[in-house]
Amino acid sequence: MCEFCHKHGEGKKWYLQAQNYSEDLLSDLRRRRFIQGFISDPEYFRQALRKIEALRRLPSFVRAVITPIAVYRQKRSHYGQVLPIEDVERIFGFVNSVTRLPCLCRQATVGSEQRHCYALSMVPHKQSRLLEVVRAVDASYLTGPDTSGLEALSKEETLASIRLLEKKGLCHTVWTFITPFIASICNCDRSDCVAMRATVNMDYPMMFPAEYVAEINPDSCNGCRRCMRVCQFGAMGYSIAQERVAIDTRRCYGCGICRASCTRNAIVLSDRSAVPRATHVR
Ligand code: SF4
Ligand code: SF4
Repeated sequence: MCEFCHKHGEGKKWYLQAQNYSEDLLSDLRRRRFIQGFISDPEYFRQALRKIEALRRLPSFVRAVITPIAVYRQKRSHYGQVLPIEDVERIFGFVNSVTRLPCLCRQATVGSEQRHCYALSMVPHKQSRLLEVVRAVDASYLTGPDTSGLEALSKEETLASIRLLEKKGLCHTVWTFITPFIASICNCDRSDCVAMRATVNMDYPMMFPAEYVAEINPDSCNGCRRCMRVCQFGAMGYSIAQERVAIDTRRCYGCGICRASCTRNAIVLSDRSAVPRATHVR
């Protein structure tokens, strides 16, 4: 279990606790202001990336002091966790409204509109304070002058679209807006997503690995390497001698994207806590 499960999940998966999605948490004005600032400032992500890049240029002993402090702050404000599709489905067991919006992160990094972010609320759209907060800000850079860029989707439509994104190789993540309040699921990739880039390439964690780890049944694997092409975390290697793919459980984030690409059902996700070599990836 990750740190948030212990702090905000009573020892269970924190993102499966309905209270962490509660609209009551939005009565906190500081949280509302945080969300509004986050959405209305297109520079937020570019600045975050610049700061992380600057951190990497510092001497290692300085970085070793500053990084844990910066990550501690990050965990209190906006932090994520990777999760496989079955846990996305579990979340939709208690979420009652979903709004799809263009990914803020990609808008900043590649300047293109990619609708991979889903704002979640436990109450229907008309009663959602979260949507009130989102609609109240000037996000015209993101959605155009009106708010029609915010699409209300049914749970079924949302799950179908997230499954399609999984087939394309995107990794599901869940996000806090002043922890422990959870307001969104995103679908990330290493080239465009600030958080994934920072976590995987820049030694600056912005998300926990999933509570799972992938394992391969070598008897079912034919060595086609399709799964290797979609792993965002560099956790897979090919053994020329065995003509099979192997997973480095110490690097695996348990997203399950490799599993979705395997036509031979050779990959399963196991509980991370049951795989001793994987427990330190936290
Ligand atoms: S996609 Fe499946 S069969 Fe192909 S290498 Fe990966 S695990 Fe093996
Ligand atoms: S090996 Fe599979 S489950 Fe692990 S990080 Fe790579 S794609 Fe995700």
